[in-house]
Amino acid sequence: MLAENCIFCKIVRNDIPSKIIYENDETLAFLDIFPIAEGHTIVVPKKHYENIEAIPDEILISVIKIVKKLATLLHDKLNFEGYNILQNNFKAAGQVVQHFHFHIIPRNFNDSRFRLAIPREQAIEEDLDQILKIIKG
Ligand code: AMP
Ligand code: ZN
Repeated sequence: MLAENCIFCKIVRNDIPSKIIYENDETLAFLDIFPIAEGHTIVVPKKHYENIEAIPDEILISVIKIVKKLATLLHDKLNFEGYNILQNNFKAAGQVVQHFHFHIIPRNFNDSRFRLAIPREQAIEEDLDQILKIIKG
């Protein structure tokens, strides 16, 4: 996707409004417009990279440092009991905006709008060995 048409680039350029909570030279953080919970925040590099494979390591490091800083701030200021840091890559994984970003998603014990269901069925050892062989091969 071209940066000109990208919604997050438009936010960075101030072509469309957003509720910015933090900004520095490389990074911008703003409230998600379709929040899963109060305080749901998006943190982006100001430059357009599509996903984790495209973003240079130094910029990724800058962005994740801001994620940590803002997660701590939000946790301090808002009344929630935990949070998920989420980062989707490619459409199959639910990436809708093709501009690398982290979500900070506030969570509470009794919430129901966000579910990350991790199966509890243990793998067969031979299957793990086969995958390991492919990965390391
Ligand atoms: P993803 O599915 O990881 O690509 O998430 C993209 C996120 O961007 C979604 O949670 C959207 O609600 C959010 N989003 C899309 N447009 C805007 C916007 N104009 N301002 C703030 N958040 C947005
Ligand atoms: Zn962009």
